Amino acid sequence: MKRLAILGSTGSIGRSTLKVVAAFPERFAAVALTARSSVEKLARQVERFSPQLAVVEKEKDARRLKELLGAGHRVEVMSGRAGYRAAATFEEADMVVGAMVGAAGLEPTLAAIEAGKDIALANKETLVMAGEIVMARAASRGVKILPVDSEHSAIFQCLQGQRFRDLERILLTASGGPFLDTPAEDFEKIRPGQALKHPNWSMGPKITIDSATLMNKGLEVIEARWLFGVSPETIRVVIHPQSIVHSMVAFRDGAVLAQMGAPDMRGAIAYALSCPDRLPLDLPRLDFPAPGSLEFRRPDLDKFPCLALALEACRLGATMPAVLNAANEMAVEAFLAGRLAFTEIARVIRQTMQEHRLTESAGVGVIMEADRWARQRAAQIIQAASG
Ligand code: NAD
Ligand code: MG
Repeated sequence: MKRLAILGSTGSIGRSTLKVVAAFPERFAAVALTARSSVEKLARQVERFSPQLAVVEKEKDARRLKELLGAGHRVEVMSGRAGYRAAATFEEADMVVGAMVGAAGLEPTLAAIEAGKDIALANKETLVMAGEIVMARAASRGVKILPVDSEHSAIFQCLQGQRFRDLERILLTASGGPFLDTPAEDFEKIRPGQALKHPNWSMGPKITIDSATLMNKGLEVIEARWLFGVSPETIRVVIHPQSIVHSMVAFRDGAVLAQMGAPDMRGAIAYALSCPDRLPLDLPRLDFPAPGSLEFRRPDLDKFPCLALALEACRLGATMPAVLNAANEMAVEAFLAGRLAFTEIARVIRQTMQEHRLTESAGVGVIMEADRWARQRAAQIIQAASG
């Protein structure tokens, strides 16, 4: 029995994780669940999965959660950073599932590592901001970081039984998002409602916008760099509109291994929770030859400048990826709120990056400071753009 602390259980990845838990009750239990403010959803999950700990961000939401559950309920309810830390280090948990969105995932992830918990990590922003530190601490603590992101799960699967020295290239596939074939001159008119419609995947709002700008693929390059310990030049982004090949690895003898499957996150989640075992999942099968032709293309960096910015941040390293990430989070939030045009997202990030004085990253403190600075600066740029 693997007991899970699921951080961000009410989100898209969190709910898919709980579907896997529900499908294999003899293998998994959820012992701690956390959310930001979706109290009703969390209350239903607590009733269904009976964890020992439930956490929300605000104290008033914690009170509301207790009210919803009724006085007799035995779950412990906590709030805020202390609560998230308690869930990430929960004594009874064998594994932490990192499914929060954004920079908020960094602190609990580090706490989980410190507590010696293996981590199924969906929260890519953590690795974008502080991948070097996270991976080094995990290694020294003997903690496994298992990828949940579908591309990284694919790469991880392709690498099983292989030797690192034989790896020549990582081919990170990208669907291209909803605007792959939209002419660049129409980008200005893109509204949140259109950008939120991903052709192949159903995901939370932030990553769906990141997929539309291709920032998501840039974040994933940085994520892959740290997860697999390779140089940025080893990784190549390949557009693959069908989302059937989840990524590939090329070896020095010219062989290329690809991992394929239906686009459903439960596959990657279940593998992170149970590898090397494969669970009998009730997912749609690739019914060959039905998927038909698979297409591969080069990404258009002029049309999708967010990808170019992320590749640059990856090359520069140090605090730049954290600055990229923070400015992107601010810009995406403003776009979703109707305060910023789609094409302005890249501009806000570029300007914030240009003004950042690169600090050779020392520790988490320096990274958090760069994150704070970038959020503040991006907010000002957004304000000026919308005012
Ligand atoms: P989501 O928005 O659907 O869910 C986010 C979860 O985190 C919710 O439970 C929410 O309550 C919680 N949360 C949000 N902000 C928080 C904060 N500041 N503090 C604490 N908790 C907070 O997001 P998602 O699509 O499930 O994505 C989660 C993470 O997984 C992201 O980092 C995303 O990039 C990554 N990811 C998602 C998918 C996908 O298919 N959805 C695929 C690959 C990677
Ligand atoms: Mg992905």
